[in-house]
Amino acid sequence: MIYYLGLGANLGEREKTLRRAIERIKKVPATKLLRVSSFYETEAWGVEGQPNYINAAVKISTSLAPLTLLDELQRIELDLGRVRLEHWGARTIDIDILYGAEISCERLTVPHKFLFYRDFALVPLKEIFPALNCKMHGDKILRVAGSPIDFKFKLVACVDKNFGLGYKDNLLFYIPADLKNFRALTLNHTIIFGRKTLATFPNQQPLDGRRNIILSCSQDKISGAEVVKNITELFGVLDTAEENFVIGGAKIFNELIPYATEIFLTVVDAKATADVFFPPVDEFILVDVGTFDGFEFRRYTR
Ligand code: ATP
Ligand code: MG
Ligand code: MG
Repeated sequence: MIYYLGLGANLGEREKTLRRAIERIKKVPATKLLRVSSFYETEAWGVEGQPNYINAAVKISTSLAPLTLLDELQRIELDLGRVRLEHWGARTIDIDILYGAEISCERLTVPHKFLFYRDFALVPLKEIFPALNCKMHGDKILRVAGSPIDFKFKLVACVDKNFGLGYKDNLLFYIPADLKNFRALTLNHTIIFGRKTLATFPNQQPLDGRRNIILSCSQDKISGAEVVKNITELFGVLDTAEENFVIGGAKIFNELIPYATEIFLTVVDAKATADVFFPPVDEFILVDVGTFDGFEFRRYTR
């Protein structure tokens, strides 16, 4: 089931809280984070004299029942320090279910009962759900520079026909033309990868001519590379002007695909034995295909 959630924060470190909430949503059982909107600064709605909000919307797919999903989201609100003082009062974090399968019961109404009256919810929602039929009310909604989607994350991988990525901690293919293409794409840019991907490099060393950033929660120093522990730390060291190539493995692709702007896939015309797979690309549009002997280069955008 697809749901769209609306997030809002107007106390504390608002953007940081939103990012942490998004990371938590990603970890809800039986749930996938599919897409994240820009962050928007908005004036408080319904009550006067409150600090401005930062709002965002996310798209998820989940097999949880609606009320179980609500429980999970309320758990995240509590864990991130939400205190319920007055209704519509200032809060560290609010996570609402904006849109999805219709339901109306005591604890939950979907679509959210005020969705169509609130630009602060509609503007981010419309960004990730352009087909939504709604009209805006002219409220002041400012896109925040440095929103997660302003970071250029480009995913690069070589897969087999079934999107298999690797087997027993190794890549499936080493195709010279693909390696050449990979080098051309990534040279002079930033590459982001996991600890196990480092082990697949020549001499298990960071790659030359590129800024190497390794996501690892177990190791803090790797020579020739920067190490970050999680996505929140990663956002902290990146620049929105940089091109960041996410190069694996499967776990890192899964972590970062909600933020990806572009995907470069080399699809080898073969079926290999694989135990890790590239995540589904249904949220993307195939814009370029180059066909070669035994493989094709594909480029996808949002
Ligand atoms: P608003 O509903 O106007 O956005 P709010 O988000 O500040 O206000 P909360 O205090 O977060 O309100 O939630 C109050 C109750 O609203 C929740 O306990 C929940 O049971 C109920 N609720 C009903 N529909 C929804 C929904 N679509 N998403 C989240 N909560 C909902
Ligand atoms: Mg709300
Ligand atoms: Mg709420």
